[in-house]
Amino acid sequence: RPRIGVLALQGDFEAHIKMLEQVGAESRAIRLPKHLDDVDGIIIPGGESTTIGKLMVIYDLFEPLKAKIAQGVPVWGTCAGLILLAKETDNALQGQPLLSALNIRVRRNAFGSQRESFETDLAVSELGEAPFHAFFIRGPAVEKVGPDVEVLATLDDGTIVAVREGNKLGTAFHPEVSGDPRFHKYFLRIVEGVQVGA
Ligand code: GLN
Repeated sequence: RPRIGVLALQGDFEAHIKMLEQVGAESRAIRLPKHLDDVDGIIIPGGESTTIGKLMVIYDLFEPLKAKIAQGVPVWGTCAGLILLAKETDNALQGQPLLSALNIRVRRNAFGSQRESFETDLAVSELGEAPFHAFFIRGPAVEKVGPDVEVLATLDDGTIVAVREGNKLGTAFHPEVSGDPRFHKYFLRIVEGVQVGA
């Protein structure tokens, strides 16, 4: 059974832990560097990216997380987690620590006040025919992707909202609150396809 660490400093990590249990994975809340030992995959949840970023530094998790990702441990960021995995954001100059794992540029709070939070059905071919009902909660948009980044989903207007780069996954929305386990299963397939350090 794969063991998935969920960064549990702030945000909706509990919802991820519940969904992981539902799909048969073992989950572990990560609050200290030692909690990263022997995890097979890592999820960075939604919440407030500036807060999670600051807490990652205070709790000495920033460098160990970067090191794990560099070793090839699969990682998935949802919403604020996607921002933290990005190489660039629109407010990178304000001291926001970024893990720089995904070769993308994101814009925080990309959807104006009308659409700050909304739900929509996304076509995600990797998940099969049925659309994925996605909850956006003050979510970011992916503005630019590097050459090795695969776009998994866009809104009707072309805005990129889900990406994959090798073992790294990012979603601008919150699959952990949808009740649909297909994104978590997809991440587990990535995790199961990887052998880190053996
Ligand atoms: N707006 C938040 C941020 O910029 C993200 C919101 C979320 O994770 N639901 O960090």
